[in-house]
Amino acid sequence: MPIFSKYALMRGADSFLQSLRPFSLFNSLASASASRPALTQFRDILNNQITGIKDAGTYKMERVITSSQSTEITVEGTQKRILNFCANNYLGLANNPEVVSYSKELLDKYGAGLSSVRFICGTQSIHKELEKKISQFHGREDAILYASCFDANAGIFEAILTPDDAVFSDELNHASIIDGIRLCKAQKQRYKHRDMSDLEKQLQSSTARLKLIVTDGVFSMDGNIAPLPKIVDLAAKYDALVFIDECHATGFFGATGRGTEEYYNMLGRVDIINSTLGKALGGAAGGYTTGPKELIRLLRQKSRPYLFSNSLPPPVVATGIKVMDMLMHSDQLSQRVQSNTKRFRDAMTKAGFVIGGENHPICPVMLGDARLASIFADQMLSRGIYVIGFSYPVVPKGKARIRVQISAAHTTDDVDHAVAAFVDVGKSLKVIK
Ligand code: PLP
Repeated sequence: MPIFSKYALMRGADSFLQSLRPFSLFNSLASASASRPALTQFRDILNNQITGIKDAGTYKMERVITSSQSTEITVEGTQKRILNFCANNYLGLANNPEVVSYSKELLDKYGAGLSSVRFICGTQSIHKELEKKISQFHGREDAILYASCFDANAGIFEAILTPDDAVFSDELNHASIIDGIRLCKAQKQRYKHRDMSDLEKQLQSSTARLKLIVTDGVFSMDGNIAPLPKIVDLAAKYDALVFIDECHATGFFGATGRGTEEYYNMLGRVDIINSTLGKALGGAAGGYTTGPKELIRLLRQKSRPYLFSNSLPPPVVATGIKVMDMLMHSDQLSQRVQSNTKRFRDAMTKAGFVIGGENHPICPVMLGDARLASIFADQMLSRGIYVIGFSYPVVPKGKARIRVQISAAHTTDDVDHAVAAFVDVGKSLKVIK
């Protein structure tokens, strides 16, 4: 007798069919949970935390975009197209036709994915090609790919530092750096944000074998920049190494998009660079470390997110390859994001807003109050401009803001339109006169 009819006889056909339906599965999970005190307690604990986050006004709602990522998007619940000013799509390449088409080409040729980590059977020629292009772009000896820059940051410190070594980290470094450092056994020192005398004091008193200074190149909440010339001077004086995270710089910051080093005219002075393919460089996914060849060789042996996580899928690798080719061929896009940024910052400052950071497409419009930032962002959306309010705990208490991000793909009209909406809302909420 076929298995279906056996079940039908045993339990009744109706109940069997019902058990195949997802909502009945949900019902049976719910009744199972009612009879399990541990699960009930678990749900209560989680719900209390969620309520706490909501009461604090920091609960994050996710708006659902129904188009591709672009300067003009559609968002669930609204009919009209909306101008997007809150993506890390600095070069506007997330839906670039050349990038998408190359991604499709390599999808056809190399398949959807590797079903393997790199060292078992997950390395294709295109992974090697992208690593080569990344190291060429940065003028480094070699590069290693990760599934994300979060992984690159999580995997580097533990692999290279021992208890004999010391790491000196800016207190406002990205969460992934903080977590990566937590995982390593080195002596951990945190210096005050961009405070070079604090860093020097700590370097002076260290007797560690290796000293590694770690900083974001550009700090993403403030759009401000690490004082790299001074950091490199201190590294030379105290025989330390320098690591920078260039997620908010690679591809668009500095005259030709080489990042913070180039912004300060000091290309090649930093020892280790970590960055992402998930922001300016096509916005898909992926991260990397680039630097000395011995470092990259060791990371392939020891770095856990590299060793124990799947290879980057071919369409994502294709995105990186195409974008690297475009950037090594022309600096037009980085020039454009820089001129759009100047236009926005100048007009907003003239209108009376306080814009944080320096010369960077991350333009925090400082408002102070968390609720004001949230209301402001909602009113901008009703005027067709998508921006997000940031408040505690993402930024310090009393320093709520709207973080605007400018893209090379914005037209000057888009920028002017956003400024006009800011002025309009700013006046109605009495932020400016
Ligand atoms: N480092 C910085 C400074 C970032 O802003 C981010 C992303 O938000 C990351 C690392 C993580 O990058 P990815 O999205 O590639 O994991």
